[in-house]
Amino acid sequence: MPIFEFHCSKCNHHFEYLVMGGDAPKKCPECNGKKIVKLMSACGFLSKGSGGETVRAAAGSSGCGGCSSTNCGSCGH
Ligand SMILES: [Zn+2]
Repeated sequence: MPIFEFHCSKCNHHFEYLVMGGDAPKKCPECNGKKIVKLMSACGFLSKGSGGETVRAAAGSSGCGGCSSTNCGSCGH
């Protein structure tokens, strides 16, 4: 079962959700907000780079594929 990470843009709650059958959470478990952003694990890896080429590559690209350009808290895009 794939577990994905999600982030609520409303209350900044970060949570994991077990996705079954392609269903994503419709609302935040904390505040019931619907501004849910799905985080890809690749974003986390990129953001944890301590400088150098990984960070530059991330900044120079169009962003991580799984993140929206403005709402991803983990990758900074
Ligand atoms: Zn929330």
